Amino acid sequence: MNDIENKRSNKKENVKTEVVYNNNLTRKRLLVLMAVFIIIAMVIAGYTGYIQLVWATELKVKAYEQQNQDRTIKASRGTVYDCEGNVLAISISVDTISVSPVTVQKNKDITVEEIASDLSNILNLEYESTLNKLKSESQYQLIASKVDRQIGDVIRDYIKTNSVAGIYVQQDSKRYYPYGSLASHAIGFAGDDNQGLFGLELSLDKYLKGTDGKILTELDVAGTELPFAFESRIEAIDGFDVITTLNTDIQRIAEKIVEQAIEDNKSEDGAVCIVSNSKTSEILAMVSSPGFDLNNPRLLREGYTIEGWTGLRSSDVQLLYSTVWRNKALMDTYEPGSTFKSITTAMALEEDIVELDTIVDDFPVTVFGSTIHCWSKEYPHGTETFLQAVYNSCNPVFVKISHLIGIKTFYEYVEAFGFKDNTGIELIGEGTSIFHDEPTKLDMSVASFGQRFQITPIQMVAAYNAIANGGYLIEPSLTDAVIDKQGNTVYDFEPKVVRQVISQDTSDQLRMVLEGVVKEGGGKNAYVEGYRVAGKTGTSETIVDDVYISSFIGFAPADNPVITVLFIVFNPQGDSYYGSQVAAPYAKLVFEESLGVLGVEKDGVVNNVNSVYVPNLNGFNVEKATQKLKSYGLSYQIEGSTAGEDVTIMYQYPESGTKINQDGVIILYTYVPENKKTVRIPYLIGKQEQEVIKTLKDLGLNVNVDGNGTCISVQYPAGAYVEKGTIVNITFRYTDYLD
Ligand SMILES: [Zn+2]
Repeated sequence: MNDIENKRSNKKENVKTEVVYNNNLTRKRLLVLMAVFIIIAMVIAGYTGYIQLVWATELKVKAYEQQNQDRTIKASRGTVYDCEGNVLAISISVDTISVSPVTVQKNKDITVEEIASDLSNILNLEYESTLNKLKSESQYQLIASKVDRQIGDVIRDYIKTNSVAGIYVQQDSKRYYPYGSLASHAIGFAGDDNQGLFGLELSLDKYLKGTDGKILTELDVAGTELPFAFESRIEAIDGFDVITTLNTDIQRIAEKIVEQAIEDNKSEDGAVCIVSNSKTSEILAMVSSPGFDLNNPRLLREGYTIEGWTGLRSSDVQLLYSTVWRNKALMDTYEPGSTFKSITTAMALEEDIVELDTIVDDFPVTVFGSTIHCWSKEYPHGTETFLQAVYNSCNPVFVKISHLIGIKTFYEYVEAFGFKDNTGIELIGEGTSIFHDEPTKLDMSVASFGQRFQITPIQMVAAYNAIANGGYLIEPSLTDAVIDKQGNTVYDFEPKVVRQVISQDTSDQLRMVLEGVVKEGGGKNAYVEGYRVAGKTGTSETIVDDVYISSFIGFAPADNPVITVLFIVFNPQGDSYYGSQVAAPYAKLVFEESLGVLGVEKDGVVNNVNSVYVPNLNGFNVEKATQKLKSYGLSYQIEGSTAGEDVTIMYQYPESGTKINQDGVIILYTYVPENKKTVRIPYLIGKQEQEVIKTLKDLGLNVNVDGNGTCISVQYPAGAYVEKGTIVNITFRYTDYLD
């Protein structure tokens, strides 16, 4: 068992003994209650979707019946853009082909059979079923819907050339999502009848859908069009376009990093990442994995086999709602764990309960017979300043502070930070947070460090934005403006301030405190050189044993926050389940790449290790080769004799053109090696960065480093033999904070 596993099992003990309830029943009852709430919430969400989809099908039938008499001119659905004008959803022109069988049958110069044959050829349809439709007694039959405009034109020509009556080509449109699965939960999709069914397509349907027009045709009693029928038109009014707050580049970055986190940490239940503008609560990216392809939303998820799958049956739709369509960023609730300590800290500072330099201690505290220890139970931090207690994430300190805040005030802040209400984001299906109805002192004590209550990810983002932006709770939003086809703004959505929760002063202090957490405390794995990241990690248990939720939430730059990032990994089954190791390193990547995209400049000196391309040294004599390497800043080891003037390099490793760190090492052979020199990878897990790099370099190996701190993984197992000069990928993480 390695160090990390040791720590992991120790921590498991800690988590379980941290709060020892005298009355285990209370806890069990609460957990059961939570489970019931979650199930009810899921059922409601599933049912809502079911109704929408079943209704949509019925509506479709009605629409066709309607077309029997009055043919519809379909309004074109509005386009959805991201914040930079990239098209996220657009309606493309297609044609729908229908016939009036009673009219078709009255054609004099062409038989029904000939028409059926021609139509089925052009449209690639079965002859028999087409013929049956043409021979029916009805006034309306749908032949083919949403065919390409070019094919529609062929039919138009056909009607004209052959003077056929009773075939109609109607302009129609089809929804197309140029980015496929990108931001699928936020954008959502529309049905075949252009009715929004999910996501923004559903929420913003009233702006997007427009109003259909009509062609009114006079019919005789038999339902046949009169020869010189008067046709009147009511023109369609096209839908408005919508500009969202989503940023396609940042969404793509967040999705890529989410997938990496899921893979690296063997997450069984996916992950969530939200990137928000800290000052306005506008959402730049919203990822809930697994997702789905918007151009094919009813596809059965990979790995599933279900007989008769259409994606339309109610059981199919329910499965889609509970898996790929589920937007975990707002539909699900989770226990925030230590990330909530920032909220308790905000209360304490705002209420003048403590100051940052107030002396506190993390000695165990007993509430109603339950004793709460620091996570570092064996080596408690003892007497420290409040600031250090935040850096060290000492649970007892937060408990004691909550007692000074008092139950009434504590929960007033919980409410003020928006944790008891829906955030008001445009998307439908926000989950409902779960708190005790009449919280006891013990309930508050554990809530002070983020346990035994449930909130939604989007609520947490809004609350952290308030910490970051001077204290204002602002409704998270995805919509910037609604515009007409001429580009005039029809509705301008300004950020909606709900209330000011804390003062500018408290916000200023907290920003610096949380920057310290990332620089010196438990959030170090989210540190980005050059960007002042502020934030907090969290690890929480679910009601299922050994199922954890690991998260990081923070904002940057700390002195003038631009973005807030929440990163949650559900049920990691890799080497660690701590937010500091499972979520923080990935939040770091989101910060670094997103701030780059937004053009936020790095400040201070950035000590990037420069990389170089290895030069070709074959054929050089030893002196020239080594000089060249020195000029690149590279070091070398020579295999074989260097005696004599004409000794030349016969083989080098890594070979020329390989990209390596500037302080790397090249192995030079003065003979043609039949067997290349190898070295054995030593045991490195748990060792510190500097030591690992030196050890490998001394062995003649190169290192490609990810992160800082303690070595947690090595590309090759200890004991493996690799060629001298090999570049070894090594992951380092700060592992001194288990949270
Ligand atoms: Zn402590």
